[in-house]
Amino acid sequence: MQITDTAAIVTGGASGLGAATARALAGRGAKVFALDLPGAVEKAPIADGITYTAADVTDADQVQTAVDQAAGSGNPLRIVVNCAGIGPSARIAGRKGVHDLDLFRKVLEINLLGSFNVMRLAAAAIGETEADQHGQRGVVINTASVAAYDGQIGQAAYAASKGGVASLTLPAARDLSSSGIRVMTIAPGIVDTPMLATVSEEFRQGLADGVPFPKRLGTPEDYAQLALDIVEHDYLNGEVIRMDGALRMAP
Ligand code: NAD
Repeated sequence: MQITDTAAIVTGGASGLGAATARALAGRGAKVFALDLPGAVEKAPIADGITYTAADVTDADQVQTAVDQAAGSGNPLRIVVNCAGIGPSARIAGRKGVHDLDLFRKVLEINLLGSFNVMRLAAAAIGETEADQHGQRGVVINTASVAAYDGQIGQAAYAASKGGVASLTLPAARDLSSSGIRVMTIAPGIVDTPMLATVSEEFRQGLADGVPFPKRLGTPEDYAQLALDIVEHDYLNGEVIRMDGALRMAP
């Protein structure tokens, strides 16, 4: 699918993977609407082709307003990349950082229900656009994690939320096929973003050493490149792609 002259929504677009994807899409001529929380939007740098919009992905009204803005931008809304997410670490039981139900709900609410919320509202708008010569109207890319398959200590809620994102890929792709919309999911390994801000340099190096190849952490640009490839590759649909350098983490 063509990227130039489309409108694109990127959630979590003010930081990390979302910010890199917003830049990459804008660099290829898309009109990008980068959705993020108000505090993050305020700090986002001004960039050509990117409109930052404050919207909480869990709030249907805020997301609908942002979808309307993108759909009414003059370019057909065709691309949605869901990067908004949180990754708190807490054990199920123990002395500190216990995963109480409120935290578990919050992680599911943002990572799983938030992605679904954006997908369903954006898909309704994409379904109203004119199809291209191949009958295609758009593509939704969600973001899971290798934690969906290989959750670590403290990642019960995160892994469950990302497992949900991975699992909804195929049924969502089948549901939206009649609208000419593809659905794909990227499951990144360890990517160097603000989500890793709290770990020490030594720990970071240890993580990089554990990646079979290439021997480094992923970058936001690795993710953005894959997102562009998915948008342009019409036959990719209903699939979860691991982007992890063959990383399989030992518990
Ligand atoms: P990040 O923290 O740099 O960016 C996430 C963005 O999401 C932030 O700007 C944050 O403000 C926004 N956000 C959080 N809650 C939101 C909400 N309710 N509504 C709107 N925006 C909200 O993180 P990142 O590393 O770029 O992660 C992006 C996605 O990739 C996440 O879903 C994360 O789980 C996933 N992921 C990251 C890694 C990694 O190693 N960095 C690995 C696997 C998966």
